[in-house]
Amino acid sequence: MTPRSSQETGVLANVRLAGGAAADIVMRDSLIAEIATAPTLETDGATRIEGEGMLVLPGLVDGHMHLDKALAGLPWMPHPAGPTRLSRIETEKSLRGDLPPVQERAANLARQCVAHGTTAIRSHVDIDPDNELTHFHALMEVREMLAGILDLQIVAFPQSGVLRAPGTSGLLEAALTEGADVLGGLDPIAIDNDLDGQLDTLFDIAERCDTGIDIHLHDAGADGLAEINALCERTRACGLAGRVTVSHGFCLGSAAPDEFERTAEAMAAVGVSLATHGGAASPLPPVKALRERGVEVFAGNDNVRDTWSPFGNGDMLERAMLLAWRSGFRTDEDLEVALECASAAGARVLGLEGYGLSVGNRADLFTVDAETPGEAVAQRPRRGVVVKGGRVVAREGEFADASGT
Ligand SMILES: [Zn+2]
Repeated sequence: MTPRSSQETGVLANVRLAGGAAADIVMRDSLIAEIATAPTLETDGATRIEGEGMLVLPGLVDGHMHLDKALAGLPWMPHPAGPTRLSRIETEKSLRGDLPPVQERAANLARQCVAHGTTAIRSHVDIDPDNELTHFHALMEVREMLAGILDLQIVAFPQSGVLRAPGTSGLLEAALTEGADVLGGLDPIAIDNDLDGQLDTLFDIAERCDTGIDIHLHDAGADGLAEINALCERTRACGLAGRVTVSHGFCLGSAAPDEFERTAEAMAAVGVSLATHGGAASPLPPVKALRERGVEVFAGNDNVRDTWSPFGNGDMLERAMLLAWRSGFRTDEDLEVALECASAAGARVLGLEGYGLSVGNRADLFTVDAETPGEAVAQRPRRGVVVKGGRVVAREGEFADASGT
């Protein structure tokens, strides 16, 4: 093996690939330059990062998050809201003034996610006539603060509804003009009581701003299915194929077989993807059946220890475990499906370029103390290092990048 010498070269040494082979991973200019399966690569002058024989995987992708709602870093707060979605919306608003700034809480959670191995997040951010664009501007600050450490995609999200909260549509469009990546939406029937009204508004904005849509759809039964099919029809009519996501889509988990087939086929035909957080107490859309029909399914943590939910720590391996558990997955082959939902599938939907553990791709990686990807999902073992663009950004489960603190 020829010795290499470069100030810009780093080597993640002594790791194991998913197939079991020992390897050294050479990283240059933020990319993977070589995956050397012969051990003990000579790398004169390169920065050596010790991999301790751990399994190396591509960085985790959290495809559905709410960073602006986080209570990360604060003392424990018993769950304050009632049992309904409207109660959670109103409770959250009433507590906003008593909490530290959004930037602080969102950055705390983002760093926590990075420490678990996440290198990209799609976060929804609340936009309503009360807070206007303040949460959005806070997440823009967090994105800048963590540039080079975390890829952060921002969804302009109408948490209080679109038609139900006059003025929201203009605020959503303003956020997209200022740098939000994706347009959000929320239960057109349950929240706005106007399926066509909300969707018409959203697709008008999406066309004007040339952006994709990621809409929260919690509505159950016939309402939920009507929403998804209307969304697919508008996606086709507006030429947004491949740029629209249904978040949750709980109705797919309880649909009759013929309704499921019809709706999954409509989603696959126009590339409408599904983001899932594992379903909690709601019906879980069938992950494998959707994938088999051509629907891209990806995962996200959704609410992590906030006024909506007391659960979670931002770990996407834990989210993959929950998704696998609720899906009845047991074999390593199936556990790898859950891992793909928490990594490569999300990367495809988010449009992350150069994602994956191959030469020429971005050096966004992490190590985990597991024999196989299946064990990593089922047991969520300790993490070694998290590498972003060839640079160590976390070690041993702790955020470790001075520029992002
Ligand atoms: Zn959500």
